[in-house]
Amino acid sequence: MKRKWNIIKKSPAEIEAMKEAGRVSAKVLREVGSRIEPGISTLELDHMCEMLIRLEGGIPAFKGLYGFPGSICASVNDAIVHGIPSADVILQEGDIISIDTGATVDGWVGDNAWTFPVGAISAEKQALLDVTEECMWAGLDAMREGNRLNDIGKAVQGIAEAHGYGVVREYVGHGIGRVMHEDPNVPNYYIKHENTPLEVGMVFAIEPMINLGTHKTRLGDDGWIVYTADGLPSAHFEKMVAITENGPIILTTEPDHKRPVND
Ligand code: MG
Repeated sequence: MKRKWNIIKKSPAEIEAMKEAGRVSAKVLREVGSRIEPGISTLELDHMCEMLIRLEGGIPAFKGLYGFPGSICASVNDAIVHGIPSADVILQEGDIISIDTGATVDGWVGDNAWTFPVGAISAEKQALLDVTEECMWAGLDAMREGNRLNDIGKAVQGIAEAHGYGVVREYVGHGIGRVMHEDPNVPNYYIKHENTPLEVGMVFAIEPMINLGTHKTRLGDDGWIVYTADGLPSAHFEKMVAITENGPIILTTEPDHKRPVND
């Protein structure tokens, strides 16, 4: 059944204001990512992230959201999203970890994610990271006036499935603004009836979650963490993008940093 989306469009001034939440979110993600190494716990990464967000004058956007306890979601290997930071989760050489984080600045919310290798990883995992990042860029590129909502998922799914990967269905991207999750849902797969026209002023978080094997998921015992059903690894990349009169612009960037997130 088709749901009518209540998409809150942002003015040019509002999009300008959102850039600061985006900048802080991108900066802390990069800095936390640069500290990933074998032996560190996801709780240490969480504390680091919260401190960095507050140093920038932001508020951790994830902390307390729906009762989530952390400032990051830390999802290792077969964990897809929503991993709770823990002193008991110690990163090991060969792991991959999705860090999803965001900052609220001046009442605007930022949200972004990146999957990082821990030390040397297998060629199989590296390929999954490369392709999932490519899926994200394709999704961002589809965020254009004149396109439709389902062009985003079509672009992501086309690349992922050409590599034999599974596209997660149950968790999706989203509109974003004064709150983290606004309408619409932004699926990473093609849904014919999701043909809402994309227009100037829309701001979405586009976040492919791509699995090495099956697209099917399993919810962990803590009620938060989402795993792949077959135990194979999953990757997750996310950026916020706004459609302006001059085309799409990515909000979760640092103007002074050459690379999108990680060196
Ligand atoms: Mg998001």
